[in-house]
Amino acid sequence: MTVRVRIAPSPTGNLHIGTARTAVFNWLFARHHGGKFILRIEDTDLERSRPEYTENILEGLRWLGLNWDEGPFFQSQRLDLYKQAVEKLLAQGLAYRCYTTSEELEALREAQKAKGEAPRYDNRHRNLTPEQEAAFKAEGRSFVIRFKIEDEREIVWNDLVRGKMSWRGSDLGGDMVIARASEAGVGQPLYNFVVVVDDIDMQITHIIRGEDHIANTAKQILLYEALGAKIPEFAHSPLILNMEGRKLSKRDGVTSISDFKKLGFTSEGLVNYMTLLGWSPLDSTQEIFTLESAAKDFGFERVNKAGAKFDWAKLDWLNSQYIHHTPVDKLTDLLIPYWEEAGFKFEGGRERAWLEKLVALIAPSLTRLKDAVEQSQLFFSDTVEFSEEAVKQLQQEGSAAALQSILTALDNQEKLDEASAQEIIKQVVKAQNVKKGLVMRSLRAGLTGDVHGPDLIQSWLLLNQIGLDRSRLNQAITAGS
Ligand code: GLU
Repeated sequence: MTVRVRIAPSPTGNLHIGTARTAVFNWLFARHHGGKFILRIEDTDLERSRPEYTENILEGLRWLGLNWDEGPFFQSQRLDLYKQAVEKLLAQGLAYRCYTTSEELEALREAQKAKGEAPRYDNRHRNLTPEQEAAFKAEGRSFVIRFKIEDEREIVWNDLVRGKMSWRGSDLGGDMVIARASEAGVGQPLYNFVVVVDDIDMQITHIIRGEDHIANTAKQILLYEALGAKIPEFAHSPLILNMEGRKLSKRDGVTSISDFKKLGFTSEGLVNYMTLLGWSPLDSTQEIFTLESAAKDFGFERVNKAGAKFDWAKLDWLNSQYIHHTPVDKLTDLLIPYWEEAGFKFEGGRERAWLEKLVALIAPSLTRLKDAVEQSQLFFSDTVEFSEEAVKQLQQEGSAAALQSILTALDNQEKLDEASAQEIIKQVVKAQNVKKGLVMRSLRAGLTGDVHGPDLIQSWLLLNQIGLDRSRLNQAITAGS
């Protein structure tokens, strides 16, 4: 048997972290078994589906490296298939037309509520005579198609994550609607039904999805039986929870993959983190791995039943590991879009070789790619803002004279490099008879406007190469006076 799995996102929003994590598990399972990973866009909800969301989903999956083997298939283009399946169930007497009005359903719900019962459809139109149907039609009532669910049925499956699962037909809310009303006959088919028709048609062997679909699985198994198809395996993965232990939702802020990208997470760091959300590798101390290496190990034995808490600190740590191991040229490519987004201009000597030196300088202190904006701000603006501490430093006795002396030395220096920069500092210390620390701290405060930051000599060289060091030092002398 060839393993065939699928991810079936609904394009009613951007690619959500939960859907993406489900995609990761599907991808890993397919690759582990040398099977196929299929992408199906569930766009039957015409009102809420949008092409830009589909675009966002495809882009997000590609960015994460979750390449698919077949698709994308669009449910909106497969309506004939669903209608045929509805007709088949109607012809076999496994489904029927229900003419109950929304007012009648509401009254039914109210009555059930009054008796303290769970709301359910009472199957009242299951056995209408042709005369009764004709009478409802004559009244102008529209209908939905309902699939019969026997109350006494027990539905059992062996979930690959959760073990034996068992549901009673009576817990499924009565005969279920599988298609909405339509003037022209069978109208819009509904989620639980089209999923099964598609999964049968696409020969899906394993259905791997979030545990919020468990109740759907019970209904879907009945549909597989009715459609005469083999029932696939099911694996319901744990939900992603926030740190308070509640299901991660829009209220938690960032939940879509494109937002994580905007915040500066690398695709490798994020996908690595998502893999660990509910799964652990054979060697449970191993935290950093590629999708390919995780695929070698992947199986449901080590998928947790309990919800997986989303831990920003861990994600940040993993992301920083990826950033710190990315070669400078590649990292430069990754950072340029964030600088562009911040409005930084690559002019006045800020060419590629200079950018790469800047990247090498700041890389060790980056946790997220976006941190590069703040950390390199001073290299992209002509003037500098001095922090309070920097001003204090510049006001120290001997500071202005030391900076003036550096300026003079610079006038006599053709090309500044590491050795000549060190030499200038040494000469100034000697000539001014001050401590080296004072010169260094004043130079840092003058050039960067701050008392902390990356390597001072490298920062100076970078500013010198874009002709900003002299003007900064002049500005600093004024600020300190
Ligand atoms: N469209 C459904 C969702 O986005 C797919 C569920 C399934 O995998 O069957 O939740």
